[in-house]
Amino acid sequence: MQGFIIRVQKVRDEDCIVYILTKQNIIRGYRFYGARHSKITHGYKIDFELEESPNFMPRIINTMHLGFKWLLDRNKLFLWQEFLRLFYTHLKDVEDVDSLYFDVLDECAKKLDKQNAKRLFLEAYIKILKKEGRLHKEKFCFLCDEEIDSKNIALARAFLPAHENCINKKGFNTLKIDEFFESEKTFNLSDDDVYRLYQIVLEGF
Ligand SMILES: [Zn+2]
Repeated sequence: MQGFIIRVQKVRDEDCIVYILTKQNIIRGYRFYGARHSKITHGYKIDFELEESPNFMPRIINTMHLGFKWLLDRNKLFLWQEFLRLFYTHLKDVEDVDSLYFDVLDECAKKLDKQNAKRLFLEAYIKILKKEGRLHKEKFCFLCDEEIDSKNIALARAFLPAHENCINKKGFNTLKIDEFFESEKTFNLSDDDVYRLYQIVLEGF
């Protein structure tokens, strides 16, 4: 089986509980420490097997790290690990998950070598919100329920639209946001837009 490690929780000594996102589910498994074992690190993609244990959670065994070149880039690795934490928070209470989450992450992992991390993750975030049916394209402020007909639109967590005045936050050019939501591409967003939009992504799904 393959999956992404979305959380590593140290228990006693060097043992840990590992949460892995696969194509079908979130696996919670126990990992005994062993010098000969390959390293379990938050964010890594691994191939692994599960050994069922009658009175305890399954054990994660025979792991193999599936590496990517960008793992050597500390900044990209940091952003990747930060992004994967959002998946844990979003999915921790479900067992069976749509393959969308794994597929989107897999695509990001393959492209991250050549692309800007924040832009890539913004595009992934939009894809997920769309698939979950949570992307609001109608321009009604979630705070006052009135239409947003100004040149700028402010966005809250999960890109919920709001008036700049209602949410007291600097907004974005509405046309650019429309284009981004439609195309799922960040080409026409400035670095400042990307920076500010990504701060919203970090608030969670
Ligand atoms: Zn409003």
